[in-house]
Amino acid sequence: MYNCPTQYLILLICAPHSAMSTPSDTQPDTLDPEDWNALRAQGHRMLDDMFDYLAQIRSRPVWQPIPDTVSAQFRQPLPQQPSDIAAAHQTFMQTILPYAIGNAHPGFMGWVHGGGTPVGMLAEMLAAGLNANLGGRDQIPVEVERQVLRWVCELFGFPENASGLFVTGTSMATLIALLVARHAALGAEVRTQGIAASGKRLTAYTSTNAHGSIAKMIDVAGLGTDALRMIPVNAHYQMDIDALEQTIAADRAQGYTPFFIAATAGSVNTGAIDPLAAMADSARRQGLWFHVDGAYGALAMLSPEIAPRLAGLERADSIAFDFHKWGQVPYDAGFILIRDSRQHFDTFASPAAYLRRETQGMAGGSPWPCDFGPDLSRGFRALKTWFTLQVYGAEKLGKVIAHTCELARYLEQRIAQTPELELLAPVSLNIVCFRYRCSDANRVNAEIVIALQESGIAAPSATTLDGKLAIRAAIVNHRTNKGDIDALIRATLDFGGAKIAT
Ligand SMILES: *Cc1c(COP(=O)(O)O)cnc(C)c1O
Repeated sequence: MYNCPTQYLILLICAPHSAMSTPSDTQPDTLDPEDWNALRAQGHRMLDDMFDYLAQIRSRPVWQPIPDTVSAQFRQPLPQQPSDIAAAHQTFMQTILPYAIGNAHPGFMGWVHGGGTPVGMLAEMLAAGLNANLGGRDQIPVEVERQVLRWVCELFGFPENASGLFVTGTSMATLIALLVARHAALGAEVRTQGIAASGKRLTAYTSTNAHGSIAKMIDVAGLGTDALRMIPVNAHYQMDIDALEQTIAADRAQGYTPFFIAATAGSVNTGAIDPLAAMADSARRQGLWFHVDGAYGALAMLSPEIAPRLAGLERADSIAFDFHKWGQVPYDAGFILIRDSRQHFDTFASPAAYLRRETQGMAGGSPWPCDFGPDLSRGFRALKTWFTLQVYGAEKLGKVIAHTCELARYLEQRIAQTPELELLAPVSLNIVCFRYRCSDANRVNAEIVIALQESGIAAPSATTLDGKLAIRAAIVNHRTNKGDIDALIRATLDFGGAKIAT
């Protein structure tokens, strides 16, 4: 009471008893602890465990198969009674933490997964404590998201008034880009009457090397995957521009309405970068929306060495990318950037009485993030991203990205020097596709990938290139070093040798 402002004291005295709680009231139904000090000590133990996990991650296997007894722990009936947080923490340490996929580990090279950072982890804790909902309203968390948006515009050479927002990942970002492009192509009526009423048959274009999320989102957007033309690629897995132009012309001749070109900056299979500038030219000439799937590759703009290879990115109408891959921000932190904020707003803004805007008070700060995407309730993904950029700085993050590419070149070199191994695709960025030479190579290499993963030494994934099964190492993690590459080579040779001996 001693430090209470006078207004509060007056309120307390004047307020009807039912409307005000006094400090002596107990709240049996609150979810806060009775003893904050005990929880504080528990919290510190949890934090220490996660610091230990990250600091000592090298001493663990990358991944290990999950025992049935562990899976069984997660087939229990709904708990009716409370239990101790310390017990839940023990369950986490014993049955959850050891059986994650392992992308924080330096030996993880599967798919395209970021490694995360301790700074991102701490920021997640702060965000969860604040429990901000970033759908809108006048609050600094939304300003933090706008700060990241302006940084992204600066990085990608976009105008300052471009719009954008955090989403789960590039898949969702791609959906938003498609919906804005659809709105730009068909006009506002598409929101009330749907696509069919336009009488137009929209078509979109991407390469055969593009990520499957593009086709998936073409489907989700109601266009049907037949509307997506898969353009062939050259020997470097880049889109063939002549084939693109011919396909667009053929579609126009048949009465289709081409509307969307999706380039890839850093393809998931081989790390290829489509000819962005030439595709931007095509899109401009043809009056089509130019989208770039930069899921992992767009952030290579942070590296002055790699950035020139992304020339043309700055001409995109939209860029979909993830901070949770090369940006090392903990999952999930996807982002959609749209050049034309008016089109973006017009695609999603939906007036509702209970979302009424004001120029003052908490309902200020319009337009809100919910006016630029399908989500209304939204978490504070911006905070862990803001912390990551603020604490590490763009230069350091760019160096991390460049280093993973250096490691990929080192792996390429090691493969070239090892007669048992063969490179299966040119190394463009940080992804290396190779295989162990032998007869029945597809079967043997698939088995090698599984053996590597189960060994816990190194964890690449598999892909297929021109019918050949490839061991695919995507070096994304900031913790990976040359020793990890050497370990991958050594284990591949060991398992390969053992497989052909049996
Ligand atoms: C990862 C990836 C995607 C999908 O992104 P999500 O964040 O998983 O939705 C799309 N395209 C490429 C090139 C990717 O690497």
